[in-house]
Amino acid sequence: MTDSDVRSLHERVERKARRLHVLHQARTQCRSGCSSCCVDELTVFEVEADEIRTSYAELLARGTPHAPGACAFLDVANACRIYEHRPYVCRTQGLPLRWIDERDDEAVELRDICPLNENGPPVEMLAEEECWTLGPFEEELATMQSVSHPELTRIPLRTLFK
Ligand code: SF4
Repeated sequence: MTDSDVRSLHERVERKARRLHVLHQARTQCRSGCSSCCVDELTVFEVEADEIRTSYAELLARGTPHAPGACAFLDVANACRIYEHRPYVCRTQGLPLRWIDERDDEAVELRDICPLNENGPPVEMLAEEECWTLGPFEEELATMQSVSHPELTRIPLRTLFK
């Protein structure tokens, strides 16, 4: 398991997410400076934490984390300081999301979208392929994690700062 495996996954996510961002650009308010999705509670698997540690050693050693209440990696202009190597979870924000929830032995499909991007066709009406499906990439990351780190521990992003 190497950083390049994580980078390759991020590139695939990026290509797929970009297509959906173009498809939904009429309703999407996502832009630099909007940090509504950049909450303080985000966590990543060790394999993605390693990618950030490798790429931003100086920032993590000497930088100042954003004040608690928002992601530690935001700068004073509410822009992401690790944008190029941001984790998977940050790459699908703003898109219509769908996922399968198991309830009482029954699989139920749920959908959601950022409230800022609600102005458009209801997400329930979108075709499956017009939504980002949560699950497959998370499973890939979990598999990568299990190869190099036996425990599926998740790391709070804030704790990466020294
Ligand atoms: S890592 Fe960057 S994109 Fe992800 S939540 Fe933090 S500031 Fe936002």
